[in-house]
Amino acid sequence: MTTTQTTMSQPLRNATVQTAADRFGVIERPDLNFTPEVVEATQEAYEKVKHIIPAIEWAALAPTIHAINTLKKERNAVILAHNYMTPDIFHGVADIVGDSLQLAIEATRTNADVIVQCGVHFMAETSKILSPEKTVLIPDMKAGCSLAESITGADVRGLRKRNPGVPIITYVNTSADVKAECDICCTSSNALQVVESFGVDKVFLIPDKYLAANVGNKTDVEVLIWDGACEVHERFTAQELRDYRKIEPDVKIIAHPECPPEVVAEADFAGSTAHMIDWVKTERPEKVMMITECSMADNVASETPDVDFIRPCNLCPHMKRITLSKILDSLVEMKEEVVVDPDVAARARVAVERMINLKS
Ligand code: SF4
Repeated sequence: MTTTQTTMSQPLRNATVQTAADRFGVIERPDLNFTPEVVEATQEAYEKVKHIIPAIEWAALAPTIHAINTLKKERNAVILAHNYMTPDIFHGVADIVGDSLQLAIEATRTNADVIVQCGVHFMAETSKILSPEKTVLIPDMKAGCSLAESITGADVRGLRKRNPGVPIITYVNTSADVKAECDICCTSSNALQVVESFGVDKVFLIPDKYLAANVGNKTDVEVLIWDGACEVHERFTAQELRDYRKIEPDVKIIAHPECPPEVVAEADFAGSTAHMIDWVKTERPEKVMMITECSMADNVASETPDVDFIRPCNLCPHMKRITLSKILDSLVEMKEEVVVDPDVAARARVAVERMINLKS
């Protein structure tokens, strides 16, 4: 990931700001034994994941889950987990779950001193942008994103120079540097509304060319693209979906709008991770196939036992860098701290808040 993200935080750290470890102190790593106390403390979480995690594996995971849950109280920390986290994280240690923007907004409403972001780097930056007074940690600084890495703040300045007067909308999957250069932010849930909010005939929607194309198919506004893509969703193909339908004719297929337009056209429904989850909970199809990252079906399945999940999926290697063991290390050693230049954060916050205000 993201040389830019790492180098951006380094000068700040070296200048005057103490590290999170300096401010909060490092504590001893707790013993990790599968004791009766651990069994009792993790029983509720186990009930939610036993359909997917065998008992023998749970015995290895539960002590870390218990240690994290104990330590987060000591640190006054809140754990944010994206819908793509594995079930042990999603159901075992998360305080708030959802898509990246839901997480960042909900975190502002807590009185936690520390946010542990279980997701990728741009999500941690978004949390820091909206909660500048909180300490934001990410368990693995290398957890990046092909979309966020496809564009820089300098690229956006270049676009603006070459296309004066054309509004530039950034999908939330970008760095703070990029958000700071854009007019407004959007999510996959509200991208169409944001595009049409300008009342002009042409806008840029960066950096996901597929999201931009999918939105462009629903509006008269000309949606100009940047050549970025999610390496997970762009691998799905329309032919693959047609083949699944031959094998499972009754299956409902729901897809994320980061998929290519021909994939979205083959699906019965397309929406953000939050909308996909709502759709399954409301529609209760007998069989469903979620065309997105693998862990989401695992996480939703525990809340919808009557729905049969057919699971073709693609793993996000960046999301999978976040593990229970690294979350524990974060809380023990108060690492890795995500720092955003205050000026960049202030300008990026304007773009995010414009979108939030548009929503309400
Ligand atoms: S799933 Fe795609 S958009 Fe999400 S973090 Fe991974 S690469 Fe980025």
